[in-house]
Amino acid sequence: MNVPVASRLPGVGTTIFTVMSELARRHGAFNLSQGVPDFDPPAALVERVVHHVRGKANQYPPMAGVLRLREVIAVDLLRRYGRQASPADEITITVGGTEGLSAAILATVGPGDEVIVFDPAYDSYEPIVTLAGGVTLHVPLLRPDFAPDWDRVRSAFSERTRLVIVNTPHNPSGRCLTSRDLDTLAEILRPTRALVLSDEVYEHMVYDGLRHVSVAAHPELGQRSFVVSSFGKTLHVTGWKVGYCVAAPALTAELRKVHQFLTFTVASPLQEALADYLESERHAIDGLAAFYQARRDRLVTLLAGSRLHCLPVAATYFQLVDYSAIADEADLDFSRRLVQEHGVATIPMSPFSQRPVPGERLVRLCFAKEDSVLEAAARRLAAL
Ligand code: PMP
Ligand code: GLN
Repeated sequence: MNVPVASRLPGVGTTIFTVMSELARRHGAFNLSQGVPDFDPPAALVERVVHHVRGKANQYPPMAGVLRLREVIAVDLLRRYGRQASPADEITITVGGTEGLSAAILATVGPGDEVIVFDPAYDSYEPIVTLAGGVTLHVPLLRPDFAPDWDRVRSAFSERTRLVIVNTPHNPSGRCLTSRDLDTLAEILRPTRALVLSDEVYEHMVYDGLRHVSVAAHPELGQRSFVVSSFGKTLHVTGWKVGYCVAAPALTAELRKVHQFLTFTVASPLQEALADYLESERHAIDGLAAFYQARRDRLVTLLAGSRLHCLPVAATYFQLVDYSAIADEADLDFSRRLVQEHGVATIPMSPFSQRPVPGERLVRLCFAKEDSVLEAAARRLAAL
């Protein structure tokens, strides 16, 4: 007998990233869909993992994370952004950025609370708000440059607004919030009890001389925010799922109440290895922006003569392309056809949006790929 299961997430299926990567595998396609780097992590980092697995780091580490790793993060936050964060009670190591996001939402959102997100948004936010019993309000980002519409944010507020989720640099558009954006958000929040959850997992991939402006360093917002980052993107270790969350002590205390029962802690040899590596290579991450900017430029050059139009991309390892000169079909159909008939997997835009913009014809390409892959995939795309 089948016991009926009342789904807590009836509208949720398998994520588009998993679906497209699976289609890529099935069709032997070049996979420019899921954000997975082709590159190996630094050899010295891998060596430290082996060292710690063979040594003594195989039991539970502290619930909040290995202290040395939190200390390295604190030094980096101060050096980059001027944010002073106490490793003891303002930094928590999480299972990827994903757990930090989930723990922050579960720690703050209750039944009937409202959460504002920007559309398009990364897919993990809303389901957790729903599980918490909250209601997600989607505020569309303005076209063509995906800037926030602060007037609409202001009017989306009610006395039930508990959280505003921002993502800078933004997946999938690559847009970064400016200090002016953050000042406006701070001004909107001033008379409210709402908090901010800032997803900054692409903080180190910002191009053309632009600088990442972290919510953690904003004089007002920094005190009412959870700021989430991840080592996955930064050190080519997305499969390790090690991230962290920075928040003022009272917020961190609430986050840790959830974290200790969601996962309790994070794989100890990975944390020890990251601490060793980042202690000895303080500037390891500084070259990442140049590394990825060159790949973005390579892809844009390769597509220059094609009928795909590359949108300006300031950050992340994603390139949005407009395919309206090629086809008028919906993005899900187009990306499916692309992988099946032309052997290139991409991510359609609409799964990021509650209400896709009518007539928008965009798909996302991940350029965290070897030159040979970018070249071969671009050759197929240019032939469309
Ligand atoms: N936020 C955004 C915007 C992302 O694109 C991703 C996916 N890579 C995550 C969070 C999740 O990060 P992690 O893999 O470290 O959990
Ligand atoms: N963040 C990755 C992307 O945007 C995917 C992560 C996942 O597969 N869940 O491609």
